[in-house]
This record gives sequence, structure tokens and C-alpha cells, in this order.
Amino acid sequence: MECPNDKEYLEKVLFHNVEVDYCPKCLGMWFDKDELRQAKDDKDAQLNWVDIDLWRDKSRFNVAKGDKHCPVCRAGLQEVRYDESKTKVGFCKMCGGAWLDRGEFKQIINYLKNKSDYEILHFYTKNLVLQLWEVFSGPETLRSELADFLMVLKLFNYKFETQHPHITQLLESL
Ligand SMILES: [Zn+2]
Ligand SMILES: [Zn+2]
Repeated sequence: MECPNDKEYLEKVLFHNVEVDYCPKCLGMWFDKDELRQAKDDKDAQLNWVDIDLWRDKSRFNVAKGDKHCPVCRAGLQEVRYDESKTKVGFCKMCGGAWLDRGEFKQIINYLKNKSDYEILHFYTKNLVLQLWEVFSGPETLRSELADFLMVLKLFNYKFETQHPHITQLLESL
């Protein structure tokens, strides 16, 4: 698979039995639809009471055609923006995968850091992360952000797959 930004070959990294593909050059991340599913485990039920502000309001989503292409099936990625481009995620409506640029990842983390949500989520993922150290196969640059990475993966799964199934419908309608 090639990076949608710079055509660099994507490498795999393992998080809690979930494989995520990342670009060693720009550090963008690709999540397969199945990978998002696998990120969900029984402990995720606890996330239900965490009232995460990000991606909460249905009416603030905006879907448009992006200029990147899916690394798996080469279809054009659709850009899902939230709240006047505060965060932007690329979705492929063909295979259901999602692309997240490095900058977008940082933006999501910064957004959460300004909220109390971050502390709650960090506490939630802390034990998981400790277990992950031993099986982590990615580069040091990502290793230092393992907790954040895992958190975003879980947020993705929870918000986009579970809470906002209508995003899929929006994508279909383009
Ligand atoms: Zn790249
Ligand atoms: Zn695709």
C-alpha cells in the first residue's frame, strides 16, 4: 500500500492486536474497516459514559470530495470535516477504511488535551498501553505516542462506527 500523500510504502504497526498501517515518511495512518472493528473489545462499554465533545453534534459534520486516494482500492477519499474543518478525516466509501494525516492526529489530541476528556481517556487506556509495550513493533516516534494513538483508534471506532452510522449514509450520497 502506498501513502495517499507521498506514495511512500506504508508499514504496519500492532496495537492491541489491531494492525494499523502508517507512513514512515509523513506519519499518516490508515485504518482498515476491519481494524476499526477489532479495536472494539468488551471494555469499550465503559466509553459509553465518557461524554466526548469531539464529533458529538450530527449537524456539524460536513462531507466533501477530497484530493487523496485510498491506498487499498485507489478510489477518491471523501473528506469528513467537523465544525468548519477543526478536524478532518479521509474516508473511503468503497472499502470503508479511514486515513488520518499526522497534523489531524495532533489536532485531535490537542483538542482533547484542552478538555477533561483527555484525562479520563488516558486513564482508561493506561493499563492497555502498559501491556502493549512488549509487543509494539513500530518506530520510536510513534512509540512515545502509543497512548494517544490507541485512544484515537478507540475514539474512531466508537464515534464513527458506533455513534455516527449516518456518516456512512452521507458518504454514500456523494
Ligand atoms: Zn506519507
Ligand atoms: Zn478504499
